[in-house]
Amino acid sequence: MGIRTGAQYIKGLKSRQPEIWLQGRRVTNVCEEAIFRQPILEIAKLYDMQHDEEYQEQITHICEETGERVNNAFLVVKTPADLQARRALYEAYARATFGLMGRTPDFLNVVLTSLYHNASFLEKYNPQWAENARNYYKHVRDNDLFLTHAIINPQNDRSKSSHEQQDMYTHLGAVRETEEGLIVRGAKMLATLAPITDEVIIYSFPGFKPGDERYALAFALPIDTPGLRIICREPMQDGTRSVYDHPLASRFEEMDAVLVFDDVLVPWDRLFLYNNVEAANGLYPQTGIGQQPAHQTGVRGLLKLQFATEVTMRLADSIGVDVFLNVQNDLGELAQSLESIRALLKVAEQEYDILPSGELMPGYVPLETIRGLLPKVYPRAIEVMQIIGAGGLLMSPTDSDMEHPDLAADMQKYYAGREGISGTERVRLFKLAWDLCGEAFGQRLLQYERYYTGDPLRKRAIFYNNFKRVHACSLVDEALSVYQAKAETGSETISQ
Ligand SMILES: Cc1cc2nc3c(=O)[nH]c(=O)nc-3n(C[C@H](O)[C@H](O)[C@H](O)COP(=O)(O)OP(=O)(O)OC[C@H]3O[C@@H](n4cnc5c(N)ncnc54)[C@H](O)[C@@H]3O)c2cc1C
Repeated sequence: MGIRTGAQYIKGLKSRQPEIWLQGRRVTNVCEEAIFRQPILEIAKLYDMQHDEEYQEQITHICEETGERVNNAFLVVKTPADLQARRALYEAYARATFGLMGRTPDFLNVVLTSLYHNASFLEKYNPQWAENARNYYKHVRDNDLFLTHAIINPQNDRSKSSHEQQDMYTHLGAVRETEEGLIVRGAKMLATLAPITDEVIIYSFPGFKPGDERYALAFALPIDTPGLRIICREPMQDGTRSVYDHPLASRFEEMDAVLVFDDVLVPWDRLFLYNNVEAANGLYPQTGIGQQPAHQTGVRGLLKLQFATEVTMRLADSIGVDVFLNVQNDLGELAQSLESIRALLKVAEQEYDILPSGELMPGYVPLETIRGLLPKVYPRAIEVMQIIGAGGLLMSPTDSDMEHPDLAADMQKYYAGREGISGTERVRLFKLAWDLCGEAFGQRLLQYERYYTGDPLRKRAIFYNNFKRVHACSLVDEALSVYQAKAETGSETISQ
């Protein structure tokens, strides 16, 4: 089939009935549910972009194997040009969503492409797992599917490993083998957009200990697999708020969910890893499924930071406060953070590695640096927005107030900004800002940037340990060489 349209994506959603729970009730038609309607349309737009003349050449390519047009997320990157083709896709999707939707289809499809290309890692443990991963990639590519993923265990007792939790099946684990496949039970979090996806892929970060064998799992299933329960978090908005009052929150809400597997059958051909702690610990660091998508998240994060920075700049200008030194200082800080991320992305794209498999891997150090910086600079951008917007963020009237004939004059007089900024213009700008920095929607976006790629604290520690391994500290050696010189010459002075 190759690239789908938005209508085909929606038709796919309508054809299934996954077990979705929302606010204590079972959702029977996800497409008719107010909270999901707009996000579904936003994802559908991304699918339609694949057929749009303006984007098609940039974000899709002809698959060598099938001759069909497929999304660039399925391109195995072997040259810098391939990497740019991937970047064009990430950028197009991030621009279309202002970087606010983190789990657009390109994210997990890149994960899968990387797993496909590095399936030899699985081969050494079980050739069938490698074969399954390769076939699954082709299935997703050729049907242009949209995946969610859940890689974290529920937050019960983090001081204990999976097999030490009170209940053996709190964390998702294997129960028994059958002729058809493996029965799994337990929960995983936190599957963003799960209710409006086609399939789910399960894998884990490293950290398995001996005794955790039953939890060492990787597999993929259709989202409507019997026994798979999707429990949504409380919505940040009810899906009926006006686009005028909430220009972002009304459109880009990404639902998050806990996935409960109630004795779910994983067919043997959908299993990528099982009962092997060593393989489960190696999967993430050794198959590129962490590093390749870091390019996607870097591009998306850059766009989101750019958006937050631009909103703050316009906010400051609209009320004439950007003439003050303190405000310029804060805005300058945001601009410098933005430019640092942009520069790091360029370095990542230029300082790539070519792996023995032929895969081009964008630079680890700059990508991981972005991953370390974004959880700091994005929350800071939101803080600066709150500080500069100040009380004005809390005085925005509603659409109905703006439209009411009795209030129209007040709206244009008291809500206007500096000279040249009308009441309408200022109110719209402040509404945009409030969605980002005040609404529950904006707080989730902030939490997302802190945690979407795992715990930044532990990630930075891993980064440091890797950095230490390859970084020789040669300048220190050079500085200390004076002592060697002194020992050899017996003199305090260093000869020229
Ligand atoms: C909005 C949002 C969307 C997300 N979407 C997805 C998704 O689509 N798919 C997915 O799989 N995941 C998703 N995640 C989950 C994300 O991967 C996790 O939030 C992240 O890995 C951190 O894990 P945790 O939330 O369980 O925090 P925890 O690991 O429980 O950490 C809680 C706190 O304890 C500290 N801590 C815990 N353990 C240790 C330790 N061993 N050593 C030192 N400190 C420790 C941490 O530093 C942190 O401060 C999402 C998260 C958010 C916030």
